[in-house]
Amino acid sequence: MVSAAGRPAQPRVTADRELCIGAAQCAFAAPAVFDQDDDGYVVVLDGDPGSGEWEAAQEAADLCPAQAILLADGADGADGADGMVGMDAG
Ligand code: SF4
Repeated sequence: MVSAAGRPAQPRVTADRELCIGAAQCAFAAPAVFDQDDDGYVVVLDGDPGSGEWEAAQEAADLCPAQAILLADGADGADGADGMVGMDAG
């Protein structure tokens, strides 16, 4: 998958389902980014969330007792908005 901006489809939010213990902290902290499957294990809904959800994803990663949530911050030094949250309406 490639974003509308043509960036490579490398998700910034991933989760290691082998580490996940189904504690659901992620889905509560960032319900737009994480969900759980029928067995209670994490499912990433949005691997490249906008800045608002990115903060929630960071909180989820902090809360996860299994440290199963992996966040890859952008390497371009940008503020992370990625034009997805209306910060640049031009
Ligand atoms: S908080 Fe961690 S252990 Fe709990 S469901 Fe989410 S990824 Fe799995």
